[in-house]
Amino acid sequence: MSRVLVSLGSNVDRETNLPEALRALQQHPELTVVDTSCIFESPSVGGDYPPFYNAAVILETELGPDILKAALRGIEAGLGRIRTDDKNSPRQIDLDVVLFDDIEDSEIGIPDPNLSEYSYIAVPAAEVAGDWTVPGRNKTVAEIAKQSLPPSLRKVPMAEQDLNLSSDDAFEEYGPSDETFNPRFEALVREQLEILGEDPDREGVVRTPFRVAKSLAFLTGGYTQSLKEVINNAIFESPDSEMVMLKDIEFYSMCEHHMLPFFGRAHVAYIPDGKVIGVSKLARIVDVFARRMQIQERLSNQVADALMECLSPRGVGVVMEAAHLCMLMRGVQKQNSEMITSALRGSFREDARTRSEFMNLVGHELR
Ligand code: ZN
Repeated sequence: MSRVLVSLGSNVDRETNLPEALRALQQHPELTVVDTSCIFESPSVGGDYPPFYNAAVILETELGPDILKAALRGIEAGLGRIRTDDKNSPRQIDLDVVLFDDIEDSEIGIPDPNLSEYSYIAVPAAEVAGDWTVPGRNKTVAEIAKQSLPPSLRKVPMAEQDLNLSSDDAFEEYGPSDETFNPRFEALVREQLEILGEDPDREGVVRTPFRVAKSLAFLTGGYTQSLKEVINNAIFESPDSEMVMLKDIEFYSMCEHHMLPFFGRAHVAYIPDGKVIGVSKLARIVDVFARRMQIQERLSNQVADALMECLSPRGVGVVMEAAHLCMLMRGVQKQNSEMITSALRGSFREDARTRSEFMNLVGHELR
């Protein structure tokens, strides 16, 4: 099985073509989509053309590079793409193999030379393949994304994507309608619908148990991940002793009392003592603990303790700000919709100056 990074781009009917291309990848019998980036918007290069939607996916496949490329051309053609000599002309869809295992072969263009040149490839790629060391470059995709040329990309918020979907779930897995994911769980959801007063055989909800099972498996994926596997050797020796901080890490979790989402931003900082960790890993660590049934206080503590455990730093500070749907939707504490929690360890707890430096960076008063 090979692991492949594929980039997607569209600036003709992009609201339709990008999700359609993703769906075609998901439905292709020889391809398994294992991860999908957010959608980014980039201006077009070399011409006064409409801006693009860009994304990246990780695929697993038994196909070799040539046959895979042919399969991608087939999907492009299916969406009406005609390849022309004008490299910059608008296109319905562009599907390019960027990385293919550790293959380095300039004849077939793998790794895609554009990866190092254009942020519209590197930035979405870094979301799903940040740790992937690019063959022949001795750099990770995340490092390349950081150095990639402008234009800078805009992450398109879900609410703005305005995707025209022929069905309302293009970003969910599709399959034949008798496909099951977790039969026991799906039976429970079906019963739940019934108890709530729904007709579980109604067309709109008949596949809901399947979708709920899949989406909950993703949203609680933290249960099956270990810290060690997430960190995956991304800890490096370093003499630095300045505060390292990653702000505004978007996270989504589920409150364990109501099984309703809470979501917001995490700010994570530490002061190294000989060891540092790749910055993207801070976000991954937040995700491992967020993707479970949680309470926000414990989530903050677990993130702080995880960093203490794997880096033995001088100190760790974690602040999380989140909105809880169980409060908002049920009308409790509407006026106080953001909950803020913090977890301080080591020098962040003991040294008032460190603590206030951190809180200033976060942009909060000391609590
Ligand atoms: Zn709750």
